[in-house]
Amino acid sequence: MRFKTCLKIDLDILETNYKLIKKVAPNNQVMFVIKSNAYGLGMVPIVHFAFNKLGINCFGCASLGEAVFLRNALPNLQFDLYVFSDLDLEMEGGIKYYLNQRIIPVISSIQKLRWFLEDGETKYLPLCLKFDTGMNRLGFKPQEMSEVLSLLKRGGRSKIYHLMSHFACASQKIKKGGTKEVASDKSFLQYALFRQIKEQFKREGIIIERSSMANSGAIEQGFALDGETHIRPGILMYGISALNADARKKIGKWPGKNVSSLETNIIDLYQIKKGASVGYGATSSPNGGTLVYIALGYGDGFLNLYNKMKLKCNGVEGKIVGRISMDVSAVLFSKQAEKLLKVGDRVVLWDHSAESLLRMAEIHKTIPYEILCNISDRVPRVYIGGGVGDGQYS
Ligand SMILES: *Cc1c(COP(=O)(O)O)cnc(C)c1O
Repeated sequence: MRFKTCLKIDLDILETNYKLIKKVAPNNQVMFVIKSNAYGLGMVPIVHFAFNKLGINCFGCASLGEAVFLRNALPNLQFDLYVFSDLDLEMEGGIKYYLNQRIIPVISSIQKLRWFLEDGETKYLPLCLKFDTGMNRLGFKPQEMSEVLSLLKRGGRSKIYHLMSHFACASQKIKKGGTKEVASDKSFLQYALFRQIKEQFKREGIIIERSSMANSGAIEQGFALDGETHIRPGILMYGISALNADARKKIGKWPGKNVSSLETNIIDLYQIKKGASVGYGATSSPNGGTLVYIALGYGDGFLNLYNKMKLKCNGVEGKIVGRISMDVSAVLFSKQAEKLLKVGDRVVLWDHSAESLLRMAEIHKTIPYEILCNISDRVPRVYIGGGVGDGQYS
């Protein structure tokens, strides 16, 4: 564990981001996606705040284990909780968890649908189905429709509580209509197929109570909102655009801010000469200057991948040099910077502006999702704002 190195989480920013999303999608309810420990921000405090202060009553996670953990941590909060991918339905006692803890499995294959309907008790559980409209990840294939319909009939199910599908390319600019290119737009085609599937169910007399398709990238582009009861934002709630650099240029900047900021501090500094060896593997320093060690390494999720990173302390900029160790990283500043830096000074890896994490991801050819999810348990999450009192959850 660390003290001063921390992931600072500003709940006021989370609230602002939610309001921004509601402005774009005033008629849709939000299923807040909190898989992978709420993208690294801490699932329990994030859900607690979102439920109590933002009034969100629907959440989506990835695995049954995550869902059970959340229910046990917040036993008195009544919200819909979906499991997207790792259902464990076949596991001994697996279905019991869903029944006892009011968890909704997102059923995405014929085999899973059979397991689900075979268990007589599951008639007390809402039925949620996911269709694959072209991503080739999880979901019923469109050609499995007739089998799905006959299984539903046999199981005496005439209602689908929630029907969903997922976009493969919502991070790219979506061509929404009016041009010839539309026919080749992946998201456009996926959404058209989703609507067809909904129509097919309706024709067969199956009632669809809820439906959703839009993830963050689609929400930013105002796509797949009308006609769906829900949207499923993840990264946009945490304040980061889901669009790639090209789409951001074309569509404009999403006004949200990054809920999190990663901070550390200086633990040692001294002068080195050009060519001096630094750290494991004795990397030769490209320049002379002030070598600063910060309290952050790959054990904290600050991966060796980020070795091109520039970072600022007290207004001066340094650059990562050499290999990142498990517990520390070396940053090379100018010779003159030594006067401005001292042990204990705060170093910010990314701040609450949306751009700083996006820039870090772009430079290192990764995505903000991956950077966030890697921040390890060793880094305390410190919650501020939100009218709950600073540090309430930490
Ligand atoms: C992760 C996930 C989302 C959210 O994706 P973002 O790009 O973070 O908005 C929505 N739906 C499903 C099924 C997911 O797995």
